[in-house]
Amino acid sequence: MTELAPCPKCGSEYTYEMPPLLVCPECAHEWSPTEAAEAEAAAVIKDANGNPLADGDDVVVVKDLKVKGFPTSIKVGTKVRNIRLVQGVGDHDIDCKVDGFGPMQLKSSVVKKA
Ligand SMILES: [Zn+2]
Repeated sequence: MTELAPCPKCGSEYTYEMPPLLVCPECAHEWSPTEAAEAEAAAVIKDANGNPLADGDDVVVVKDLKVKGFPTSIKVGTKVRNIRLVQGVGDHDIDCKVDGFGPMQLKSSVVKKA
């Protein structure tokens, strides 16, 4: 038998499973054991291949990116070191420094893990 988490509402240890929910007999609270895990999964930022990214990762750009104010674009295959995940503007969720271009924000959908 697996040990169930105590009731998040009243702390009772006598919780039981009524799939897909967990139920507390003391305060009648019902909750989903996967809810917390799903919320965490939604916050994961993934690269173009669906691999999760983390702070400090090195990534490679997978398509040419035009940069405002620069005559050339960031080329496919450009390596970007030591990225930082952020809640950026729009869907820009990577804060990084690109050689020759300087600090900027990229979308996780245009890079893959190096
Ligand atoms: Zn309870």
